[in-house]
Amino acid sequence: MSETKASPLLVIGAGIAGVTAALEAAEMGSEVVLVEREPAIGGRVLRINNYFPKLCPPSCGMEINTRRVERNPRIRVLTSARVTAAEKKGAGWSVTITRDPAYVTDACTACGDCDQACETLVSDPHNLGLSEAKAIRLPHLNAWPNRYHFDREAVGDEEARRIADACTIGAVDLDAAATTETIEVGAVVVATGWHPYPIENLEDLGGGKIQDVIANVHMERMASPAGPTGGRIVCPSTNEAPKKVAFVQCAGSRDVNHLNYCSGVCCLASLKQATYVKEQLPDAEVTMYYIDRRTPGRNEDFLLKVAAMEGVKLVKGKVGRIEQENGSIKLHVEDVENVRIIEVEPDLVVLATGMVPNAADDDLALFTRKDDEGFVLDDLDSGVTVAGVARRPEDVAASVRDATGAAARAVIAAGGRA
Ligand SMILES: Cc1cc2nc3c(=O)[nH]c(=O)nc-3n(C[C@H](O)[C@H](O)[C@H](O)COP(=O)(O)OP(=O)(O)OC[C@H]3O[C@@H](n4cnc5c(N)ncnc54)[C@H](O)[C@@H]3O)c2cc1C
Repeated sequence: MSETKASPLLVIGAGIAGVTAALEAAEMGSEVVLVEREPAIGGRVLRINNYFPKLCPPSCGMEINTRRVERNPRIRVLTSARVTAAEKKGAGWSVTITRDPAYVTDACTACGDCDQACETLVSDPHNLGLSEAKAIRLPHLNAWPNRYHFDREAVGDEEARRIADACTIGAVDLDAAATTETIEVGAVVVATGWHPYPIENLEDLGGGKIQDVIANVHMERMASPAGPTGGRIVCPSTNEAPKKVAFVQCAGSRDVNHLNYCSGVCCLASLKQATYVKEQLPDAEVTMYYIDRRTPGRNEDFLLKVAAMEGVKLVKGKVGRIEQENGSIKLHVEDVENVRIIEVEPDLVVLATGMVPNAADDDLALFTRKDDEGFVLDDLDSGVTVAGVARRPEDVAASVRDATGAAARAVIAAGGRA
């Protein structure tokens, strides 16, 4: 591939899609600015315990990409950053990027001296609020940049001073302020990904009301050795292992009252989570209630493998209501194949909630076109292209393929050659 002298590209969002797009474009010869709003790159996949279909930990794929980003001089990574203004300029864009105050500077070696001096605990965003973490902390074990993050607003001045003093190399800067810079770019890749559909919106299914009704994203954290229970799958109300686990598919998906669309990954995510349960609790009974089993292509093999596991049952049936009576959870299910309504009483229920595009409620300060659900549409006339779940619900393999295409489109739009 020959090198190009095209204008730099802007990639917004450094999940697997954004990181892939940045790497592909940089390896085609483009300069890339990769903007991520969180303190570390990697996005949602780093909150998954294991990937389907191979069931390997997400760190294995992400770590290689992180090293590639780190070593590529054409990629400039701006974390804790957002695009706050954008103006069309010629064929490209003039973009203003605002970064949160860097209370911990690049000098940080992640030695941990500062967290010894920190007493304040905050809800841990990496564990989706299921546990607490120090106000100054490494965002998570595989965080890159490998630098502490300080929730300065959570801490009083005296404690903040103690924390700063504990850093012997002076990497804590209590006077840090937000910074802004304006850059010109030839094209933009939007890779802003997704957030989980809020479980609290699913009141009929006990979401946010019944403690032992959790979301699939919570199950990922619970099963993770770095998660809130150290990897133990338990009923939150008792902290004891469940004997019966129910997975409720399409929880709020393909439903005009919630998300109109299918998120495409939830059937596979639940099947994968069934393997988490069976590995840890071989005697547990696992039942998945589904409308349709959507496991396209070779993923069908994964479905057949899990369906054949002892103690795993797949029932075609819509769960209409979940209640708690005298401490027990009751599911009301329309058992479609036997044409009857059944009631079952599992100890733990996992709602397979869908993926909502982050762009749905974020205008990205760019003129982006979106569909009715908030997924972003390509607008190559404006030099804007899209990758990953920002475009449509998809799994990691599809997000990576998509991002490779987006990188090529963006390089061409910026005047280079893919
Ligand atoms: C329960 C569950 C389990 C799953 N398990 C699997 C699995 O086992 N295997 C699999 O292949 N797929 C799985 N998936 C799907 C997988 O999570 C997605 O395919 C993947 O996260 C898509 O990556 P992405 O980069 O598009 O989005 P994300 O991972 O969401 O990354 C987007 C990034 O953009 C950043 N961002 C957002 N807005 C802005 C902004 N305005 N400015 C700057 N940055 C911004 C975010 O902070 C984030 O870092 C699962 C999904 C669910 C719901």
